[in-house]
Amino acid sequence: MSLKDSKIIVIKIGSSLLVDNDRKIKRKWLLSFAKDIQKLKNMNKKVIIVSSGAIALGCIKMNFNKKNLKLDKSQAIASIGQIELMNLLTETFSNYNLNISQILLTLEDTEERRRSLNAKRTLGNLFDLDFIPIVNENDTIATSEIKYGDNDRLASRVAQISNADSLVLLSDVDGLFTKNPKLSKDAKLIKKVENLNEDLKNLNFKGVNELGSGGMNTKIEAAKICYLSGCNMIIANGLHFNPIDRILKQNNYTIFVSKVSKLDARKKWIISSISPKGELIIDEGAKKALKNGKSLLAAGIKKVNGKFNKGDHIKILDKFNKEFARGLCSFSSSEVEKILGHQSKEIKKILGYITKSEVVHKDDMVEI
Ligand code: GLU
Repeated sequence: MSLKDSKIIVIKIGSSLLVDNDRKIKRKWLLSFAKDIQKLKNMNKKVIIVSSGAIALGCIKMNFNKKNLKLDKSQAIASIGQIELMNLLTETFSNYNLNISQILLTLEDTEERRRSLNAKRTLGNLFDLDFIPIVNENDTIATSEIKYGDNDRLASRVAQISNADSLVLLSDVDGLFTKNPKLSKDAKLIKKVENLNEDLKNLNFKGVNELGSGGMNTKIEAAKICYLSGCNMIIANGLHFNPIDRILKQNNYTIFVSKVSKLDARKKWIISSISPKGELIIDEGAKKALKNGKSLLAAGIKKVNGKFNKGDHIKILDKFNKEFARGLCSFSSSEVEKILGHQSKEIKKILGYITKSEVVHKDDMVEI
């Protein structure tokens, strides 16, 4: 689906679009962006903006250098800068009669099903009230283990939860190139990626497109989430004025076309997890059974990696360590360690209590 045909659109803007190298706020650019959003609204689109900039604007206010900030300090700076960011956006968007609201997310807000449904409901209610939700990570709380860390993946998770048709990552490069465009003259912009796994197989992203806050790696990770959840993703250059209008009028960006997804909302949520807690390595017999729509039983599990609790997201790998499914595990990692290789009827005796018989139920599992 093209951007023009999309009903729900998530747009991510990075700090480098809001602030220039001399630490000046790019007000003119922001005004042009707000105008683009008004245009989308006039086209009856529902828009969510994922905006970075809390730390960058906090640093400007406090005259700090972002590079020297330790985590706890940057959390305080984000707390100061988030207000600056929202004031800036409120003021700019009011020029186009656009109302905005703020949503700050922490990793669990999207990774826990119940909380992700709450977030979805709030986004829906804001659409009804004709407010544009502005989302950022709750940097003041998040520490490294429980952080999205970059707004590219956060934006893709927001796109999945809101059932968006398109995610636009406005970056400081035109899109994904075959080589680093700053270093190689023959680097070519890849305009369309239709089969994420196949098309990108021969590209090495290290050094290819190092620009942008999260670099190209986090954008590819975001693309994977979108690919499986039925949302097209665009990487486009946001440095130009009216960057969204430019996407609507010109074909100078990379679009990742999503797989047509027949998955229901819950399964899309399972497959798009940002933080699977562990891995189950299974044998060929179990893989075959899973491919035939069966649940995963303890007998087919060879190994457990990682520490996780009952109900956590896990990856399911074959004997070559290739991930081919994801799911919610009905047992903790220490329980799986005890019961792996055993018949389901032996589980009660081994653990000493009654449990489910499937380790990952087919309703809680999605093949990649
Ligand atoms: N959440 C961070 C901020 O607002 C930015 C993270 C990112 O740019 O990826 O400053």
